[in-house]
Amino acid sequence: MLIKTKICKRCFKNYIPSLIEELFYDKSEFCLDCLNKLENKIRYFKLCDCKCESLYDYENDYESKTVIDLIKNKYDIELTNMFIIKYLLYLKIKFYNYTICFAPSSKSSFNKRGFDHLHEMFKLLNNKKIDCFIKTQDIEQKHLNKVERLNINKYIKLNIDKKELKNKRILLVDDVMTTGSTLKACLELLKTCECKKIMGLVLLKHI
Ligand SMILES: [Zn+2]
Repeated sequence: MLIKTKICKRCFKNYIPSLIEELFYDKSEFCLDCLNKLENKIRYFKLCDCKCESLYDYENDYESKTVIDLIKNKYDIELTNMFIIKYLLYLKIKFYNYTICFAPSSKSSFNKRGFDHLHEMFKLLNNKKIDCFIKTQDIEQKHLNKVERLNINKYIKLNIDKKELKNKRILLVDDVMTTGSTLKACLELLKTCECKKIMGLVLLKHI
């Protein structure tokens, strides 16, 4: 019998996926040891009257922090799926008929990385996806102080015709939520589009 071994993209060790892993972590290229180091921590919260949820903690989870840093600052495209894998089935069912709208990211970071990290992170979800926002000034969030972050709404605009979102169920997604001001700005804009429902999902949240 042929035993199917895979190489984990996080620790580079060979591993044999169990039947359970094959079923639940479909398309995973990470060993269970590495996946288990990411601590599942779903949190529910409301922003602009919209139900939102986050999947991991930013502060207390060393591995989540390391992986997001490797993706965003060391440009490791191979790790982009790691956050979604553990929740894939849950997200596929819960947001089955939702259109995914990506929070806007800065053009200069995209140029540096050579890939759109948000698109890559949500690639395993087969939902329709729209880039419906643009930043009118190319600013990287990490270079902003707290007051500037809170004023981010000045620089975020809709990039599409509002009719495209009318009567649709929308899931706004982002990778890391710090002050929540980007998400709030996006949600306020979405609320002007007569959507059927608007929800938010972030991978990592600062407490
Ligand atoms: Zn591993």
